[in-house]
Amino acid sequence: MKTGRIQHRMALIIRSSLIHAAGCYTTTPIRKGARVIEYTGHPLTKAEGDRVYDSSVVTYLFGLGDGSMVIDGHSMAMFINHSCRPNCETEEIDSHVWIKAIRNIAAGEEITYDYCLYDGGEDDALCNCGAEKCRGTMYSRAEMSRRAAGKSPVKPRARRHAEPRKARKKNPVRGRIAAAKRTEPQ
Ligand SMILES: [Zn+2]
Repeated sequence: MKTGRIQHRMALIIRSSLIHAAGCYTTTPIRKGARVIEYTGHPLTKAEGDRVYDSSVVTYLFGLGDGSMVIDGHSMAMFINHSCRPNCETEEIDSHVWIKAIRNIAAGEEITYDYCLYDGGEDDALCNCGAEKCRGTMYSRAEMSRRAAGKSPVKPRARRHAEPRKARKKNPVRGRIAAAKRTEPQ
């Protein structure tokens, strides 16, 4: 595979982060446009994801395509923190999610992308990225608008609000489902 060599030269490490708990850092420079890491994990249907993680504080779900499938992250990529001014973005190609550099990244920098969260129930998903124009939440702008308008987060979840709410801990760190910018379900 052509990209294998490039990935090999990148050395990512997990260590404590100012943004949140642990983060993913590069020990080598990464050039703009490079694939940094794939967001790997078990594919689940949206319904399975809901069932397994409904009362979880932390989820590492990444929505695919129309949102009917999610990846339940279990690799280094799940440690990558959100930032409102990220150095990477996500791209979905044939049901694989890649984290790609959107600018040159220096050795030692923390890898970040915009989670564009949706489907977070009553979670606030507060953002602590420290960016000058931090929007205060890890939700996507579309999700923020939906919430401001008092609409249900996303269609498959609409009925859930009629159900008794389960107790949730405050300030969940990962919200619900992250999405590639171009594939956030509407
Ligand atoms: Zn932020």
